[in-house]
Amino acid sequence: MGQIKVLDQNMINMIAAGEVIERPASVVKELVENSIDAGATKITVTIEDGGRKLISITDNGCGMDADDLARAFEPHTTSKIKTSADLHGISTLGFRGEALASIASIAQVRAISRTKGSTGANCIEIDCGSKTSAGPCSGDYGTTIQIRDIFYKLPARRKFLKTANTEMGHITEQFTRIALANENLDLTLIRNGKELYRLSDKDDLRRRITELFPMPSSDISENLIEAEIGEKGLHVHALMGKPLISRTNNRFQYVFLNGRFIRDKFISHAVKEAYRGLLEPGRFPVVFLFIKMPFEEYDVNVHPTKIEVRFYNANLVHSQILGALREKLLGTNLELPGRLPDLQNAQSTSRHSPPVRDSRIADAMAEFFRKHRPVQMQQQLGFRQTSPGNVHAVSSEKSAQYDRKYLQIHDSFIVAQTEDGFVIIDQHALHERIIYEDLCRRIRKNKLQSQRLLIPESFEVSVSGAEALKANAGLTDKLGIELVPFGPRTMAVQAFPTLLSGVQPLDFIQDFIDLLDRKDTGLDAERLLDEVLNMAACKAAIKAGQKLTDSEIEQLLADRQEAESASRCPHGRPTTIKFSISDLEKQFKRT
Ligand code: ADP
Ligand code: MG
Repeated sequence: MGQIKVLDQNMINMIAAGEVIERPASVVKELVENSIDAGATKITVTIEDGGRKLISITDNGCGMDADDLARAFEPHTTSKIKTSADLHGISTLGFRGEALASIASIAQVRAISRTKGSTGANCIEIDCGSKTSAGPCSGDYGTTIQIRDIFYKLPARRKFLKTANTEMGHITEQFTRIALANENLDLTLIRNGKELYRLSDKDDLRRRITELFPMPSSDISENLIEAEIGEKGLHVHALMGKPLISRTNNRFQYVFLNGRFIRDKFISHAVKEAYRGLLEPGRFPVVFLFIKMPFEEYDVNVHPTKIEVRFYNANLVHSQILGALREKLLGTNLELPGRLPDLQNAQSTSRHSPPVRDSRIADAMAEFFRKHRPVQMQQQLGFRQTSPGNVHAVSSEKSAQYDRKYLQIHDSFIVAQTEDGFVIIDQHALHERIIYEDLCRRIRKNKLQSQRLLIPESFEVSVSGAEALKANAGLTDKLGIELVPFGPRTMAVQAFPTLLSGVQPLDFIQDFIDLLDRKDTGLDAERLLDEVLNMAACKAAIKAGQKLTDSEIEQLLADRQEAESASRCPHGRPTTIKFSISDLEKQFKRT
């Protein structure tokens, strides 16, 4: 007898749910999108226990009558498309007709809905795929859907849920995306009976961004540059973070296509290119991009959660976005005094292209020698020929300069003589390495020494940021950072490591939170500590473009002798490039 069986409908729904409903946040996304598609202007999201116990969404949209209410939870039922032609140009957020059926197959659901024309509401209850009751009830215009005990009959799936706070972080992220894409929606998020966000339709986008992205070190919306283009059927509205507020990961890049949050590699690339040379390596810009284009010019039917789309003319999208962003960024005074050229150098250090950088430095060196050395040599030679006495005078006059076996060039590199040639040192990279090693040594022994701030510095923190700090309290303590909560979303730094005295505490905390909160990589404790120390060293190190005094250079050269791996910065880039006399002789065609 054959082994193959036809799955029953509930099994089919449960399998579909596996794709669409990963966690409580997915339920929030699907339900709020339905509310938006239903024309709602006011939506309230209520969460208990990170969504395990309850997810409830109330809207003032068009509602459903009794028939539709029952049909909505059947598989493959939708009011949004009718014929295959409708698939080419989907203007609603949903269209697959599987979210409600999927959700109803994995939880207890109660839905109440009332249309504008009707005198009363209707209610339906479904428990993991089986309808338990339906009938009239009291209720306002619009729809309320309550989801309880998600995955309660699927222990394997339920086990995968993280702590309530982590799940809440995911929910907040979904809420954030929807809030950004729908400026004129009145949106409320309630957690365990307390209001977390109340976003009014009256507030403008910048205000909304400030509320959604509390940043410890600065007010985000004050550091956003606005660009707008409307060409070739593509309208782009961009809010671009200045390099000053760049982050350590790319989670702060929000791209919306006709109100839908998407991830797209062409667009990410365009954003990256737009910032080329403006950010240090390993930093990512904060960007909010709102793209509007005809629905027919892309396909959303490529991914179950519709987070990816396929552009029919991806090159056009790429070039338009890159052009608009780049032009605006280059036309804006980004207030990075004297650092730009050095950063550009630093940019090309990205692991793929060290030879370019080496050759650039070599070029700079050749140029330097062309300008200076031959002239001096000629003079000396000239003097020697005519009057040896003068030679002595000149060299003693300049002897201080010649005894000093180093030189800072372009306020970024140090050229120092060695026994068999000379080295060119990237001052930032070397200093970073030295600090990093120092930090590692100290933290291995004990927690870092800290000093109390005269006045504690308070900062706003996001839900997931606060959670990340809480979960890593041990690490924070080890670093010598003392944080105290001030309110549900406010904290203050009370003590900060002495070694990092030159670093702005809030600037550090912001990147620290980013690192802790990075969801894409499950770093183990040791790697995480290492990343944090790297980041700390980078912040504390002298920068490219910084003029150094002789004693600072001497200190750096002395520390270089002590450092274990002075030739590489903590990121693995070289700190030093060596040139031997024999190299020089070859270059000058002496051999
Ligand atoms: P889709 O959104 O892909 O159509 P869903 O399973 O999410 O599929 O929803 C099925 C249908 O239920 C929708 O097409 C819509 O007609 C109706 N519906 C769902 N949620 C709401 C709501 N909040 N208000 C009004 N109608 C809704
Ligand atoms: Mg839907």
